[in-house]
Amino acid sequence: MTATRRAQRGRRRRVLLIARVRAAALALPARTGCGDRLRSRWLRAPLVAAVLAMAVLNGCSDSLRQHEFAAMSTVVRVSVYGRNPDWQAFESAAHAYASRYDHRDPASPVARLNRDGAADLDPLTAATLSRAVQLAEATGGAFDPTVLPVTRLWDFDGGGTLPEPAALRAALDRVDYRRLQVTGASAVLHDAELDLGAIGKGAVVDHLADWLADRGYRRFLLEAGGDVLVSDLKPDGTQWRIWIRHPRSADAPLTIAAIGAAGQRVALATSGDYERFMERDGVRYHHILNPATGHPDSDAASVSVIAGSAIEADALATALFVLGSGGEELLRGGYPGIEGVIMYRAGEELAALTSEQFPALHGRVNVN
Ligand code: AMP
Ligand code: MG
Repeated sequence: MTATRRAQRGRRRRVLLIARVRAAALALPARTGCGDRLRSRWLRAPLVAAVLAMAVLNGCSDSLRQHEFAAMSTVVRVSVYGRNPDWQAFESAAHAYASRYDHRDPASPVARLNRDGAADLDPLTAATLSRAVQLAEATGGAFDPTVLPVTRLWDFDGGGTLPEPAALRAALDRVDYRRLQVTGASAVLHDAELDLGAIGKGAVVDHLADWLADRGYRRFLLEAGGDVLVSDLKPDGTQWRIWIRHPRSADAPLTIAAIGAAGQRVALATSGDYERFMERDGVRYHHILNPATGHPDSDAASVSVIAGSAIEADALATALFVLGSGGEELLRGGYPGIEGVIMYRAGEELAALTSEQFPALHGRVNVN
């Protein structure tokens, strides 16, 4: 068998064509029976007053608490097991983290860096920016945080415009993550500008996970837009099930991923061409741009990545989206420890390229 045929056979095996599943599944954990357990114990044996007092003071350790609010132009959803966190403080923390990475906020360290070309940073921002450089390197520049001159020309935030070729060429000259240097708590940006849109949500989700962990929470799920992070397993020892939408239908699952491990954090991020796009003369232009060409020229329709942190999952989902079907090497071993699925356009059809151990429930990836 020729190498080409072997490659074709391998790819056919990975592309699982399964009839569209209509039934939706839950992304969030089912309510646990903590209250029910207390009630049934009450029926079986008299409760010792001290135990009851402790339960009232501490809340039930298995109780599911849920909260959602608007931040980062999306909805942030939180599920935690245990006492109710101070949700107001949690929201304030989320807004404060998010504003750090918003280049549109003139007071943010990122805006200062864009304006002045150098800035002293708080430790969190410094850590995020050096992570951004590492992730750009690891993805061969497919994820590039200095993409702002180009994203500004396409202006997807303002509804989208087709850039003039000369302006695009000039903007592209300034896109190169090596222009960003982070040393300790200071950063220098050589004639470049940062847009952290591809990692900002992931970074904030990681910070919020730290916020909860610092306050003693162990089992929780955080979600912001396409970025999900789970901590530990659910109290019954099962994994968390994450519903991933099909890129061509908001109501149909592409797949349901079962993620989570005892004592660990696992993140899953999705980038899709349906999130923000414009159409001109029947052509769809999406918001994820190839830093090498300045165009949204990928064949990807959506990419989901599972990694150990939300910032990694977020950056890698964007990078693998840029690479599309050419991202196989990076997905399958190029970046250790990740799993993922790349949905790409193959002519009129969609196809899926999955990593070896992508944890799709029942092995199902519903391509069509
Ligand atoms: P995401 O939805 O996480 O894939 O991030 C997309 C956002 O990241 C866009 O709205 C841009 O602000 C920015 N962006 C677009 N293309 C890239 C790229 N190749 N590398 C880094 N950031 C990008
Ligand atoms: Mg991203």
